[in-house]
Amino acid sequence: MNNNPYHNYDHGIAVMQAVNCFVKQLLQHLGEHLFNNTTRFCLLLSGLCHDVAHTGKTNAYEANSLSTLAIRYHDRVVLEQHHAATTVKILRDSSTNILCNFSDQDFRSFRKQLISNILATDMQEHFKMLKELESRIEQYGNDPEDLSLLCGMITHTADFNGTARKWPQSQLWSEKINQEYRAQYEDEGKKGYPQQPFMKDLDKLHVMSKNEMGFIKVIVRPLYYQMNVFGKGAFQICVNNLDETILEWDKLYQKEIQEFEQQEQQKKQESK
Ligand SMILES: [Zn+2]
Repeated sequence: MNNNPYHNYDHGIAVMQAVNCFVKQLLQHLGEHLFNNTTRFCLLLSGLCHDVAHTGKTNAYEANSLSTLAIRYHDRVVLEQHHAATTVKILRDSSTNILCNFSDQDFRSFRKQLISNILATDMQEHFKMLKELESRIEQYGNDPEDLSLLCGMITHTADFNGTARKWPQSQLWSEKINQEYRAQYEDEGKKGYPQQPFMKDLDKLHVMSKNEMGFIKVIVRPLYYQMNVFGKGAFQICVNNLDETILEWDKLYQKEIQEFEQQEQQKKQESK
């Protein structure tokens, strides 16, 4: 794992730990039949490795900078393909192949699920997957693709575990990702690449608070909410944490925007 402020070893470990917690909760709420041990192990490994060898930049940056990875994967789901391929490469190396006792056939099906789980962390798939899960809740288990969808959703949901923790930890994880975004925005400016509008002015706390609040309301909370409906209450603690975190960001935003506007007014008056 690279030494990025957010996409580093700690994030990999945190996602693996969250996957384990979600699986345990789902088994408790829905029954032991939900996953076998190989599926559980594949989920843990997917969580740990889903961002392996991350560049600390977004897919948009990779494409705009015509990076080696963007060229290799034709701008399509660049980083997620890179993480999945790197994981499989590590598993194919005899010195790091923890699956060496698997038969060829078992390895192939394990690899297929691992790739599917890691690719499910691509944000472009978010709304489609959410809709799919919603439509499958009533008849879950009747379609052979259901398990794959659920495993992808667990990996994707665990990817936001930092945000779904209690407020002080949630705030810390948000600060880490924003630090990475700020560095990318600056780098894009220096190199003349298109800059991502949502990364602008993140050093201003009112801008960052508003962004975080919006992201949780539109993306993270609906995801945890839907998983909670599917899991019959298995994600309730996370949903409660997210509700509290939205309120905390809002408090911070109201306080900061007031101070910011006062300062701006003062500057105007001084320049008259
Ligand atoms: Zn991640």
